[in-house]
Amino acid sequence: MPASLKRINVPGGASVLLHVCEVCGAEASFGVGVEFRQALIRLAGGDVVTAKRLLGKWYCGEHRPTGGDARG
Ligand SMILES: [Zn+2]
Repeated sequence: MPASLKRINVPGGASVLLHVCEVCGAEASFGVGVEFRQALIRLAGGDVVTAKRLLGKWYCGEHRPTGGDARG
């Protein structure tokens, strides 16, 4: 089982929600383009914007991309 990491507390009081479906906002299990370790490093440095980008996009099982066809 992957670690269930839903919220990271950033030094300074901010927090970031993770693992939420891009489409419906439900709890997401499938990440695309995730650079998790890099994201944590950025978060530690207070760079939340870059960290979010490095966390990629997340989808629940229902909205998980299947063939890379993301038109729309
Ligand atoms: Zn969804």
